[in-house]
Amino acid sequence: MRAQRVRDAAYRMRHHVLDMGEAQGQGYVGQALGAADMLAAVYVDQLTYRAEDPHWEGRDRFLLSTGHYAIGLYAALAEAGIIGADELDSYGSDDSRLPMSGMASYTPGMEISGGSLGHGLTVAVGMALGLRHQGSQARVINFLSDGELDEGSTWEAAMGASHHRLGNLVAMVDINALQADGPTVGVLRTEPVADKWAACGWHVQRVDGNDVDALLAAFDGISTEQPSVILCDTIIGRGVPMLEQREKAHFMRIDADEWQICRDQLTEGYRGVPA
Ligand SMILES: [Mg+2]
Repeated sequence: MRAQRVRDAAYRMRHHVLDMGEAQGQGYVGQALGAADMLAAVYVDQLTYRAEDPHWEGRDRFLLSTGHYAIGLYAALAEAGIIGADELDSYGSDDSRLPMSGMASYTPGMEISGGSLGHGLTVAVGMALGLRHQGSQARVINFLSDGELDEGSTWEAAMGASHHRLGNLVAMVDINALQADGPTVGVLRTEPVADKWAACGWHVQRVDGNDVDALLAAFDGISTEQPSVILCDTIIGRGVPMLEQREKAHFMRIDADEWQICRDQLTEGYRGVPA
């Protein structure tokens, strides 16, 4: 079943994230756990790609604006077979192809060097325009954070995408209600988010970003006549109750003796999900 394949992949990816975090002793684990269902839906259900040829011209492009979520994307790339799962152990270490912040020149399948937030959608618009000029059927999917909605460049890109009626462009926004400087609502109030995207001319859907059925239904509902955005409300640390309940911080500290507890809680929680 389609949704179960995605849920199973997200579960394995969450384990990969915890393993990478433990190997390096750190990482943006909370964000990666929260976004695992979004990334699994993209890689298992949506993207057209060739695992053995990550630069294949006909591929769909997935652009990770949020370079610090790279730990989550590496788990997805391993799930997709674009990198080997055994390589994940090298995360963040010297000479690794998997640096802590995502860099296109290092990692197969990493399309852009994100991390300077607010640039991903601008690049995505250019790519989508270019692909359309080339007559390509490939799509561009851009993953943004809610913190990036503070950036003027994001909204310039949003208006440009709608002006050019880029039906080959999809944006996914991880609304985890937190950004580097604190809760999003206290940094710059961005709600009503859906109304803002709609005013910019986008096809808008808002879903529970940790509900795989809802995510897949949203992908089924995107427009091909105009750019589409899927606003995804997620929970930081999703799947690991100890982390879901922990006081939220942009960089969530996990002590050395806690990683195994996290893994056990993840495994225990997943058993309860019907196949
Ligand atoms: Mg955020």
